[in-house]
Amino acid sequence: MKNDRKHELLQQFPQLKELANKDTVLWENTNWMRTPQTNLFTMLEVEEAEETLHRFSSYLKVAFPELVESDGLIESIIKEIPAMKSALEQKYGVSIPGQLLLKCDHALPISGSIKARGGIYEVLIHAERLALASGKLTQEDDYALLATEEFQSFFQQYTIAVGSTGNLGLSIGIIGKKLGFNVVVHMSSDAKEWKKALLREKGATVIEYEADYSVAVEQGRHEAEQDPMCHFIDDENSKDLFAGYAVAAKRLKDQLEKTNITVNKAHPLFVYLPCGVGGGPGGVAYGLREVFGEHVHIFFAEPVASPCMTIGLMTGLHDAISVEDIDLDNNTEADGLAVGRASKFVGKVMETYVSGCYTVTDKELFTSLGLAVDSEGLFLEPSAHAGMYGAIRLLQKGQSYLEQHALVSNMSQATHLVWATGGSMVPTTMRAAYLEKSREIDSIE
Ligand SMILES: *Cc1c(COP(=O)(O)O)cnc(C)c1O
Repeated sequence: MKNDRKHELLQQFPQLKELANKDTVLWENTNWMRTPQTNLFTMLEVEEAEETLHRFSSYLKVAFPELVESDGLIESIIKEIPAMKSALEQKYGVSIPGQLLLKCDHALPISGSIKARGGIYEVLIHAERLALASGKLTQEDDYALLATEEFQSFFQQYTIAVGSTGNLGLSIGIIGKKLGFNVVVHMSSDAKEWKKALLREKGATVIEYEADYSVAVEQGRHEAEQDPMCHFIDDENSKDLFAGYAVAAKRLKDQLEKTNITVNKAHPLFVYLPCGVGGGPGGVAYGLREVFGEHVHIFFAEPVASPCMTIGLMTGLHDAISVEDIDLDNNTEADGLAVGRASKFVGKVMETYVSGCYTVTDKELFTSLGLAVDSEGLFLEPSAHAGMYGAIRLLQKGQSYLEQHALVSNMSQATHLVWATGGSMVPTTMRAAYLEKSREIDSIE
């Protein structure tokens, strides 16, 4: 049965063959549009998210003193990584025209990953809706009120549930518990022990599954449906999450302007985003395309064992195809990307927005992990290193994309932005173990 399905799929979509073979690929999206369109989401929702986050800034400063300096804004810096650029060039024998920048979401306050955007936002807006409906809060109040005992015990009546490979659960657990909610996190088998331990320490309930992420989400959704006091944060379908991620776009525009980095026809911006179920990279991509139009070129990065978004977009089947359908095992050290079936909502929105997708091997992730530590003293978790291969894949396999978009002559003025999606909360012992693995892997070849 299963082999029939695989056979059929490969016949209908011959491009799947390379993916089924676990080859590294660069897939170019032929549905890409200069002016992308969707009727599933609007910038109004992003603006609403910006305003909501602004209302919460006084609360966030009280609850997380680390945010005092940024005036309650959860944001990360961009920085150039020239030593990493040289290290990659040397390692792979390619020259990367333009400059290589890092978006430091691995260092986002509160939870140290890109999930500190969408995940935290959805918990905040849920808390706001409950508080407003109860009459205990108005939008004109100082939201620092929410840090009082009164609100803590108010939120204690409610539960927030989520299914996660790790970082989403971590973000929601931290902010949810801080506000006073009960938090239940359904963790897939890929989730790292330290993330579960930290969540339990914060007072969240962690339910572990022997199965992958999709099962954890399904179980979480099912359990939450039984309880009217429970809100399920749905990584596969939530527009609030998506809006929270998309807020990054305008802020990035400001950061680039302040650094005197121009984005236009002669100065293309390439952004490489590690992708799991799709919400994080999808939200950021949506916002960036709305802000920069045709001059930003966005590529999603996935492990060779878990290219769910690549196959969903390539076939147009979205969540009606899983990596298991083409006999891939969804087994990767990139725990944040270990997702076998992509979000249909995100895939549909991305149809005309995203330039393409590429895949990376686990070996490459660990090679990059070592290179970044040695060249820049930069530690990122393995998932985040998927973004480091964007420029290389594009130069190796993306010639036709560059030609079609008339980019060839502008590449020396290009900016390549790697979205570093996680890593600052990884414990020291884990970092050492990852680094050791990186050294081992590189000594084998
Ligand atoms: C969650 C995550 C991603 C991808 O985000 P999705 O919304 O699952 O696509 C990438 N990198 C890291 C480190 C993550 O935790």
